[in-house]
Formats: sequence, structure tokens, C-alpha cells
Amino acid sequence: MESKNSETTVDGNLLVARSLVLAGVECMFGVVGIPVTSLANRAVALGIRFIAFRNEQSAGYAASAYGYLTGKPGILLTVSGPGCVHGLAGLSNAATNAWPMVMISGSCDQKDFGRGDFQELDQISVVKPFVKCSAKATDISKIPNHVFEVLSSAASGRPGGCYLDIPSDVLHQTVSESEAVNLLAAAENSRNQEASETVGNLEIEKAVSLLRHAERPLIVFGKGAAFARAENALKKLVELTGIPFLPTPMGKGLVSDTHELAATASRSLAIGRCDVALVIGARLNWLLHFGESPKWSKDVKFILLDISKEEIELRKPYLGLVGDARKVLDSMNKEIKDDPFCLGSSHPWVEAISKKAKENVSRMELQLAKDVVPFNFLTPMRIIRDAISAEGSPAPILVSEGANTMDVGRAVLVQTEPRTRLDAGTWGTMGVGMGYCIAAAVASPGRLVVAVEGDSGFGFSAMEVETLVRYDLPVVVIVFNNGGVYGGDRRNPEEITGPYKDDPAPTSFVPGAAYHILIEAFGGKGYLVETPEELKSALAESFSARKPAVINVTIDPYAGAESGRMQHKN
Ligand code: ADP
Repeated sequence: MESKNSETTVDGNLLVARSLVLAGVECMFGVVGIPVTSLANRAVALGIRFIAFRNEQSAGYAASAYGYLTGKPGILLTVSGPGCVHGLAGLSNAATNAWPMVMISGSCDQKDFGRGDFQELDQISVVKPFVKCSAKATDISKIPNHVFEVLSSAASGRPGGCYLDIPSDVLHQTVSESEAVNLLAAAENSRNQEASETVGNLEIEKAVSLLRHAERPLIVFGKGAAFARAENALKKLVELTGIPFLPTPMGKGLVSDTHELAATASRSLAIGRCDVALVIGARLNWLLHFGESPKWSKDVKFILLDISKEEIELRKPYLGLVGDARKVLDSMNKEIKDDPFCLGSSHPWVEAISKKAKENVSRMELQLAKDVVPFNFLTPMRIIRDAISAEGSPAPILVSEGANTMDVGRAVLVQTEPRTRLDAGTWGTMGVGMGYCIAAAVASPGRLVVAVEGDSGFGFSAMEVETLVRYDLPVVVIVFNNGGVYGGDRRNPEEITGPYKDDPAPTSFVPGAAYHILIEAFGGKGYLVETPEELKSALAESFSARKPAVINVTIDPYAGAESGRMQHKN
């Protein structure tokens, strides 16, 4: 559609940017190049922040986490072909974690498709397994509608990834200013707000009655409840009923880990013995042992609260509540207030959970109290925990990945505020570290972000420390450096034969790698620490500076276990 009069014209690049602004997009992540550089520049000129990464994979992880943290789809912009393929990492991560995200990729010229064009790829087909919806703007007039369509689909119902494909010829097409205005207005008017299902009174009554009559009730919540911003309703439910609660790793902080009803430190007892479990915004997948015995009691009655009807149908719980976590919990709280019940601290179930938790915590504290040098995982984790706690409110956002580092960190580090923990998540994705840090810093300006990373996990996205420095983000990256995946070479030398027996082990990296110098190459601050005093001083200095920093912590290469707590799967 070419404009024929002398009126100002609007090209595809500008129309995408204007559509994004109209739809409320404030920030994009990506890597520019042919054919999307002009699109990024147009977006910036209209007030959208564009965070330029070194690789689409990290930018995609950032977009997915930004969607989770802000509740609005994170946007990833990529070039065609290989850029789109790199971006799939982020899109698939959004799909698996149920986070809202939109990937926008340029694609090759439509008339040259099938003839071996530059970066030619059938991108709509390759994104298919990872998207809720995809659209290709085959003509400039389709751009505004498609932008609104993918953004609304990504955030509605169970959130997820969506894809928009814009061929390079479409980015160069033009329409007149008045046509652009009409197209934008039409797209905005067609914006449909999908109403989420509401649970009926009868189901609310049933759920409350199950909890009321249970002998050993438990409340479990996950990152779906965090996404729903259900923290106040959840805290109210816990305090009204006195029922112990268990967060999933990213649910941590919705109700503070320090709350007296937290069952985190008595997890096995809580899930193994509860007779009714209200599970809110958390799937009964591998992270929750599929809700099956022997980890759970055979007779447990699950009440599942989830926005996704398919999820409820899949798990076949005793009672399913399809709806938004915050709204449904508000209704449950109202129902309870009308006829209150509360277990109280002397209830045998509450006492048992609390006693077990105290025992486990004191056992762990004994280990944590020791200053072990060369460092094991526990000593530096305790020092980091104390430094993070000393920050107070708003609590720093924690990013964590690695095997032992993430496992130990999950047990030791304390979450007191919602959405302050980002980790490898449902997909066990390694490589999310720097992308998540950047997303967190951009989503919550001024807030400190602390990454606690294994050296292997860090390596996947380490080049993005340049991005941290370039945007001057308040991110402190702590690398637990034990010289490899799981640490030192644990092979039996007698079993290593063949012509490559002298090669480094597949699990090994360069010993003593100077990761702290990596960030200094770009002007950031690096620290190498080997003792408790050195770590304390690096944390104090870097936390108060709120500037990009890498603290390279030397860990005994033989501390920790291969595959962390997932050894049964290796
Ligand atoms: P976790 O990893 O913390 O266990 P999951 O990612 O497995 O959490 O589960 C999150 C669940 O939350 C998903 O099944 C998703 O459909 C659901 N969910 C997402 N948004 C909402 C919401 N607003 N209200 C209720 N459930 C939600």
C-alpha cells in the first residue's frame, strides 16, 4: 500500500514503533542488524527504552523475566534467520515458565523467499512449538492489528510467548500519515480484554470447607501466584487460618520466608503428611514431584487454583478452581471471615511442622556458622545471606543459577518480598543469569540486583557484563568459581583411556579463571575473594556502590556434588 499524495508518509518501521507505544510498551530487549535497526531507532525516538544485548539468547531470557516481573509482555527484537533462532531460547523459556513475552523478528524479503535469500527461514514454522499465537505482517496495513493481537494473547489467560514476523519489504512499505492514524485507531479499538473465569460461590465454599475440616492442611504457592500479585491475599489467608505454607523456589517471598508458619525447612514432612493441599499458581510437575507418593501422601486431597483450565484438567485434582489467584483468594478470605477458623500455634500439625523446621534450621545453622577455607558452598552463602538481609527493604532481587550454587542458595538465602527470586525455573535453564539481572534492573529502577551464580552458569551469558556496564546497572554478580561444571575432575583415572585421555575433563574449565577481570575490561569493578573477610568487604563496597561488579569467589573444586540435588537424573 503506497501513498500517492504529498502527505507525510509513515514506513513499516515507524508504524511498528507507534503501535508498540500505543499498546503501552515501555521497553524492548534485543540485538539490532538487518532488517530491524531502523525499527529499534524509531522505537527509541518515540520514548521506548531499547536494551541492546550481545546475543539474542540473553536478550530473550531478559524479555521473558521482564514479563514475569512487570506483568506486561517483555519484548525481544531480533534480526531474521539466525537471530530468530537464537531468540527461540527466550521464547521457549517464556512458554515453559508461563511468562508473557513477544518476540518480534525481521524476516527476509517476501518475493525472494524460497530462492536462498539472505537469512531466509520459515520463521512462523520454527516458533510454532513455543508460542500461544503468531502472526506475519504480510503488508504494512496489518502491522498495528498484529502488534495488539500478539501483545494481548501473551498476557491473557495462562501467560506465554507470542511471535510477530515482519518481512523486510514490509518494514520499507509506506502509508500516509492519515492512513497510519486510522490503522492505529482501528487496532486500538479492537483490543479485546479476555475476561478471566470466575469461580462460583459453591466452589469457594467447598474449598474453604475442605481446609476447615482438614487435620493437616497445607498451602503451597508458586510463581503463578506471584505473577497474579496475590501476596496480600495469600498472607491474609495464611494468617486468618493459621495453615502452614510452602512456597516453590520462585514463590519464595510472597509470604516472607521468616514467617512462623513457613514450612520450607520442614518440606518433606509438610508434603508427605498433609491431608489437604491448596496449591495456588504452581503446577504439580517435577518440581512438586507430580503430586504423587511417596513424596506426597497417597490420600492427599488437592485443591488446585490455576488460571489455566487445561492445567486443572491435566492434574485431575479433588477440587479445581479455575481463575485468577488474587481474585479467588479474596473470595476465599471473605468466606472465611464470615465463619472464622484458625489452627493456632498449639495445633498438633502446626506444632509438628514448626518443631521439625526448627530442628532442621538449627542443624543447618551449625554448618553455616563455620568459616571453612578454602570455601565450601555454605560459608560464602551465609556471608551473602547476611549482606542481602542487611540491605532491608526494598529487598534486592536475587538471580541464581548453577547446580550446587542454586541448590544451596535456595536453602540458605532468605526471601522476604514477592518476586525477588529468579532462577533456572521450570525448564532448569542454565544461561539465564545476566539476562535476568538486566531485566530485573530495568524493571525495578534503582533496586539492587544480586546474582549468585555457578561459574558454569555464569559462562553462558558472561559477555553480557559489558551490557551491565554500558547501561550502568546496579547489578552485583557473585561467581562461585570451582573450576567447572560441578567442580573439579571427579573421574576415576583408571577409566580414562583412548587418544584424548589427556584432554581436560568435559566438566572442567581453566582452573582459577579470572572472571573478575572480564568486567574490568569494560570498566566495571572486579573482586577476587578467597576468605570471609575479603568477601564481606567486597559485598559491602559493591552493594553500597550500586554499580556493575563481579565478585569472583574461589571455591574448593571438590566441594559440592555432581549434578547437585538432581543426581538421580544424571
Ligand atoms: P512454580 O514453578 O512456582 O511451581 P509453575 O510455573 O509450575 O510455578 O506454575 C505456575 C502456574 O500459575 C501455571 O500453571 C499458570 O497457569 C498459573 N498462573 C499464571 N497466572 C495465574 C494467575 N493470574 N492466577 C492463577 N494462576 C496463574
